[in-house]
Amino acid sequence: MYVAVDDTDSREGMCTSYLLAKMIAEMPYDLIGMPRLVRLNPAVPWKTRGNGALTMRVGVGGGEPRKIGEYDGEDIVFLPRLKREVDAAEVVDFFLPYVKENQQRGSNPGFVVSRTKPPQSFYWRGVRDILGVGEVATMLDEMGAVRHGLGDGRGIIGAACGMSWRPRDRSLELLAYREPGRWGTERTLSVSSVERMDALYPTTFNNIEMRWRKVAISPSTPCPVLLGVRGDDLDDLLAAREVLEGEEPSIWLTFLTNQGSDDHIIEDASELLPDRSYRLRMTVSSTAIENKGGYVIIRTMHRDEEMECAAYEPSKEFRDVIRALRPGDEIEAFGELRDSPRTLNLEKIKVLSVADVIVKTGNPRCPRCGRATKSVGKGAGYRCRDCSVHIAEDEAPMGKETRMLIPGWYEPPVCARRHLSKPLCRMGLCQPLDFV
Ligand code: ATP
Repeated sequence: MYVAVDDTDSREGMCTSYLLAKMIAEMPYDLIGMPRLVRLNPAVPWKTRGNGALTMRVGVGGGEPRKIGEYDGEDIVFLPRLKREVDAAEVVDFFLPYVKENQQRGSNPGFVVSRTKPPQSFYWRGVRDILGVGEVATMLDEMGAVRHGLGDGRGIIGAACGMSWRPRDRSLELLAYREPGRWGTERTLSVSSVERMDALYPTTFNNIEMRWRKVAISPSTPCPVLLGVRGDDLDDLLAAREVLEGEEPSIWLTFLTNQGSDDHIIEDASELLPDRSYRLRMTVSSTAIENKGGYVIIRTMHRDEEMECAAYEPSKEFRDVIRALRPGDEIEAFGELRDSPRTLNLEKIKVLSVADVIVKTGNPRCPRCGRATKSVGKGAGYRCRDCSVHIAEDEAPMGKETRMLIPGWYEPPVCARRHLSKPLCRMGLCQPLDFV
């Protein structure tokens, strides 16, 4: 049976992945394959944090067990094959109380149990588009799935779309959870152990921002998560966990995820709708505009539409890439389109080409004495102090600006990346220039 759950948590506490970990640790079934943390459209206006849905397959399994976690000192394993299906009604009776008892105030949990997976198209729409609860309910009913939507019922959207994921690109996340008595208190984690882990296991990613030694694997919210290490190799992740020093988790569990896949990015879109994320080829049409709060805007032309692209304060040095752009530069921008103001919030860019920019290189020389002239005022030209010769503004010497940017891919620092954004290291790339 496939089991999916979403939207049990609120900003004040809990975490649906912790709930799934507890469900797995306490269930009387075998876990078939890895549990999944499936991120959906990051632009959904009603998400709590990272719009993640949780799914797993349970039953009577076969094959070699594989350790992927621990709960109170006991191993959590999965089995690779389903040998025998279990009864759907029993599965619902066992898991539904977990969902009901852990529902946080203001959340709208969704719980789905199904013998088969929903069509794959629901994953792609869930990760890129906005769905209505009615169409999801109809689809689940038609395929004979059991669904429970608590609160306003919206949680079944995430549960169903997460369940329908067939990985095209996938990564892993090892999540460790705190003892309930410690929730809301400060976490302890040695920064140098995170640095060591990062250096020892290059298949892990988004661990630490080296420029400021800022750890990215540990949240600051009052939720049960102690830390989450992302990577591409299960053995490396299990070994990487051993390197970390700090608070002991009460549970840890590894999930298969679509994080770092860029699955949310729509390419070659004919129509640009807000609350979706796009890859757009653009020509820069302004220099950077600085705004209060530290965010930087650049104007661009995409086809015939003028569009503003924004890089916000948390993206730190990435804003220097935007500041180094000039009119005429060709870029590919990845980002989420906001409605009002209609702005593309940048997640990364590929600079395709940089334009030759002609700028004034100095003041003109006096044609009589050869000495440098002084500006008379903005747009008013130049005058030689000794000979009083006046020279028009447009006679100033011009030349090519030395460009501070070269073509290539640029991305925000580790702490400012979206869950779904594919980091350059997963694309086999790195920035051609580092802005510090
Ligand atoms: P966390 O990451 O902390 O677990 P969250 O950010 O996942 O929380 P949820 O509490 O799960 O946020 O809320 C997301 C809500 O949006 C859920 O009710 C989910 O069903 C719904 N949802 C997810 N994707 C879509 C979509 N593409 N269209 C419409 N609704 C969606």
